[in-house]
Amino acid sequence: MSKFWSPLAASLVPYVPGEQPKDKKYIKLNTNENPYPPSPNVLEAIKAAANEDLRLYPDPTCGELSSVVADYFGLKPNQVFLGNGSDEVLSFAFAAFFDPAKPVLFADITYSFYKVYAEFYGLKADLIPLDEQLRMPLALFNRENGGIVIPNPNAPTAMLIPVDEFRALLEQNADQVVIIDEAYIDFGGESAAKLVNDYPNVLVVQTLSKSRSLAGLRVGWALGSEELIDGLNRVKNSFNSYTIDRLALAGAIAAIKDEAYFQETAAKVNATRDAVAAELKSIGFHVTDSKANFVFISHPNVDAEAIFLQLREQGILVRYFKQPRIDRFLRVTIGTDEEMEAFLKAVRGIVAP
Ligand code: PMP
Repeated sequence: MSKFWSPLAASLVPYVPGEQPKDKKYIKLNTNENPYPPSPNVLEAIKAAANEDLRLYPDPTCGELSSVVADYFGLKPNQVFLGNGSDEVLSFAFAAFFDPAKPVLFADITYSFYKVYAEFYGLKADLIPLDEQLRMPLALFNRENGGIVIPNPNAPTAMLIPVDEFRALLEQNADQVVIIDEAYIDFGGESAAKLVNDYPNVLVVQTLSKSRSLAGLRVGWALGSEELIDGLNRVKNSFNSYTIDRLALAGAIAAIKDEAYFQETAAKVNATRDAVAAELKSIGFHVTDSKANFVFISHPNVDAEAIFLQLREQGILVRYFKQPRIDRFLRVTIGTDEEMEAFLKAVRGIVAP
């Protein structure tokens, strides 16, 4: 606390990102980054954009990138909103669409940034409990609300909802905005982008951080009706019109255009994930059905925090959430085959020495 902080700053309970320790070299399986480098075309494009034009502001409308993203999804450029990572897109969406007079709905176990944004914007939140198997109970979202946010697949549970199951929710909440956060959709799911022209209240949020290996570039987007995209632009242009810099614009365009590279790396991650899940089950772990670039696991006999600490000792970082309902679980990002071999070897030594 400081006398210099505003009442707003003093009231905040900020998000705590996964640790990035620098004391030694770790195998990093704790922040859901992609283990493979971005497409070589991305690096070329960024180098080419590192020129004297950097003295000029970037295009505040992100016109070219909007067109490339729109084409990719069969939408119009004015149905695309771009931001500095999907975290920023989500923050603008909370500000643009959620009604403070009514509770915002999200799951009790989900991406913890939603709670932070709700508090930041003075929104009440009602938490919808995941079912016993940690599945997202879509029917329970049909109650009075000022907006809904659901990640698909959910984080940290990794479980996917078939996209057509969202239709009923979107119809029943036609007067509210429903955000579907698709940070992990490219690892085996089908995007709700195909619902955007049917439902003016759906906002689909995606990122280049995971499936395009560009967490360091900070580019995310929302797809929605023109009405929703206009709302997001109102917020952005009241805050910082230039959220994406020239280098990031160039890199993002190259990333989306290199479809073959993206398909290849996503397929590699998925194959490794399925093999790791099978191996973990064979040594007694419960593994949720993951369609993301991470697995969510628990062992009936061994304490999750103990596994987390022992792995850390051995130079392997995974994510442990000291949180009700999931304190017996670990979230493990899928790394390269070599990294996962090292992880499995260490885990076998801990649970079945
Ligand atoms: N949504 C979910 C569910 C996430 O797990 C993350 C990454 N931590 C994000 C959004 C934000 O990703 P980024 O800001 O890197 O696009």
